[in-house]
Amino acid sequence: MSERELVRQAHTVRKLLRAAATDLSAVDPRSTPGLPDETAPDRKAWSRAAVGRLGGLLTAHQEKLFAGGRAGTERRRMLLVLQATDCAGKDGTVRSVVGAMDPLGMHIKAFGPPTEEERQHHFLWRINRSLPPAGYVGVFNRSHYEDVLVVRVRGLAPKKVWQRRYDEINRFEDDLAADGMTIVKVMLHISYEEQRERLLARLDDPTKRWKFNPTDLEDREHWADYQRAYADVLARCTTKAAPWYVVPADRKWYRNWAVANILLAHFDDLRLNYPEVDLDVEGLRARVEADHAANSR
Ligand code: AMP
Ligand code: MG
Repeated sequence: MSERELVRQAHTVRKLLRAAATDLSAVDPRSTPGLPDETAPDRKAWSRAAVGRLGGLLTAHQEKLFAGGRAGTERRRMLLVLQATDCAGKDGTVRSVVGAMDPLGMHIKAFGPPTEEERQHHFLWRINRSLPPAGYVGVFNRSHYEDVLVVRVRGLAPKKVWQRRYDEINRFEDDLAADGMTIVKVMLHISYEEQRERLLARLDDPTKRWKFNPTDLEDREHWADYQRAYADVLARCTTKAAPWYVVPADRKWYRNWAVANILLAHFDDLRLNYPEVDLDVEGLRARVEADHAANSR
C-alpha cells in the first residue's frame, strides 16, 4: 500500500470506530472493523508489520510536532486518552503503538486512585497538571473519566457530584481543544469472557502475576454497571472537539492496528510541517568547517 492509501485507510478506520462509540452494546469486542482483506493467513504477523509501517508514519508526524514545539512556532499538542476495564490492553497499547514514536516527545501519565493531596482539589486539578506541553504527544493511561466511571460504580462520590462532571469534562476539553490540543479518546472494549482468559493467564504465568490485582475481581463483579457507565460516557462526552472511539480489543493485533490508524488520521488532520528556521546556513557551515581546520592542525 502506498503512503496515500495508508492515510486514506486511517481515515476510514477512524470513521468506523467513531461510529462504534454511538452504541457500545452493538460492538462485538472480537470484531475487526476496517480490516483489509490482505491479512490472511497469519494476522498477528501481518499486524506487526502493518503497525511497524504505521509507526514510521506516526513518528514522522510526531517529530514535526516536536520540532515546532522546540522552535517555539507550534503551540499544538496531542493527547491520547486510554480508558478500559482491567486487562483490556491499555499498557500493551502504550508499548506497541505509542512505543513506535520517539520517547523524548512523549508525555505519558497513568492515573490511579487520587492521593491525599489530590483528593483535596477539584477532580480536574491533577489532570491539568499532567497535560502535555506544546509539541508533545501525551498519553493518559486512565484519566479524568475515572471520576465518572469507578467513582460512579463504586459510589465514591454522591450522585449529584458525579452527575455534573460530564458537563464539566466537556467544557474542560472544549477549552483545551480551542487552545490547540488534539484530544483522542479511545475506549478499549473487551468481552467478559476475554477478561476471564486474561486474568487466568496472569495467574498461570509467574512473570505476569505482578499484574494481578485482587481488586480487579471486585470491579469484574460490577461488569454490567461499568458497561452502563461507559455507555453514558460515550453518549454524553462525545463532542466535536473531543470524540470517543470504541476499539474492539479482544484481539490484541487488531487493537494495535486500529489505534495506530486513529492516531494517524488525527496527525494527518494537523498538516504539520517542520518549522522554518532562520539560520545563515552558509555562514554557519563555513564556521563549523573553519573550527575543524583550526583544531585538527
Ligand atoms: P491500574 O490502571 O490497573 O493500575 O489501576 C489503577 C486503579 O486506579 C484502577 O482500579 C482505577 O479504578 C483506580 N482509579 C483511577 N482513577 C481513579 C479515581 N479518580 N478515583 C478512584 N479510583 C481511581
Ligand atoms: Mg484495577
